[in-house]
Amino acid sequence: MSDTAHASAVLTVNLAAIQSNYRKLRELAGNAACAALVKANAYGIGIEQAAPALKDAGCHHFFVATVDEAILLRKIAGPDVQIFVLNGIDNRSRDPFLEFGLSPVLNELAQIELWSKQARTGKTRLPAAIHFDTGMSRLGLPESEARELGQDHERLEGLDIKYLMSHLVSSEQPDSPCNREQLEKFLEIRQTLPPFPASLANSSGIFLGAEYHLDLVRPGVALYGANPVPGNPNPMAEVVQLKAKISQIRRVDTPQTVGYGATHRVTGPARIATLPLGYADGYIRSLSGKGYCYIGGIRVPVVGRVSMDLITIDVTAVPEELLLPGSDVTVIGGPVSIDELAEAGGTIAYEILTSLGSRYPRDYVSEDPSL
Ligand SMILES: *Cc1c(COP(=O)(O)O)cnc(C)c1O
Repeated sequence: MSDTAHASAVLTVNLAAIQSNYRKLRELAGNAACAALVKANAYGIGIEQAAPALKDAGCHHFFVATVDEAILLRKIAGPDVQIFVLNGIDNRSRDPFLEFGLSPVLNELAQIELWSKQARTGKTRLPAAIHFDTGMSRLGLPESEARELGQDHERLEGLDIKYLMSHLVSSEQPDSPCNREQLEKFLEIRQTLPPFPASLANSSGIFLGAEYHLDLVRPGVALYGANPVPGNPNPMAEVVQLKAKISQIRRVDTPQTVGYGATHRVTGPARIATLPLGYADGYIRSLSGKGYCYIGGIRVPVVGRVSMDLITIDVTAVPEELLLPGSDVTVIGGPVSIDELAEAGGTIAYEILTSLGSRYPRDYVSEDPSL
């Protein structure tokens, strides 16, 4: 536990909640294996803490975005986990794949050729996944390349294909026709290849039903507590809490403006409290006049602009005895769900999580979320 006694804002991360979320998703996925997405520093949570916790919970398959993330993860998680690199491989990044035993997610025929050639040259078999684009138009073999591969399996010589994969574009909307179209397209491509295991579902995809589970599911955001089924109660345990202590309280009796740009004006008697965190800490600026916190069970709005290091909240509704410099304010967690806060700021929980700053201290705890 880090020393957080002097700190005016503390981020608490519950690693037992991540483990509980992992087990829940793995159970939901039935016979499929369950990977963990730990790209972008485990969605801002901290890969050095999250990855060992996930490994302890039984996770053997990890996905990261970049080679650098993969090298770090190999050092953290040891030799006996499978690490897939979503951004693929090229000539410049080839050596660390070999040195650290990483599996590229091959995103085009040229990458398949490069890795196959490497295997043949080294007279070895090299692990990889192959990603097919079924609607994202971002990474993965386009349809034309998938067809070419289907007609020429020799391109896979020397490769130990762990998974064929694709990525859903609208899985958080169960009624979107995209889901079924992508599943069908993916299964069609799979038919043209030798019987390799397959993987399609991200967090929300797991909730679309058993057809989508295939052999491996790939949750990210739900592990870290965001709601994978928007519009329904969040089935995941809360992972992140951000609490801050009030820095100052301004008692306002005459009309007065609050913050940069004078976007907020206090008219009557009011109390404005200042909290020591701002957009440099990941409290994104679009929460200006839109965010909210809780003090002693009372919801208090963020008023005026979010500044770099400070926000201001209107605490007029809070009883005087709760309003002292040093009083605790819940900024994220409990009644302030990351999903609702994200929506208030016009974004998604993914962005709130990955924006969580590193300036305030982090307390990594392990508390059974069911208690
Ligand atoms: C990030 C990512 C995931 C995880 O998505 P979540 O919505 O966070 O569960 C799965 N697959 C791929 C290819 C990804 O890039």
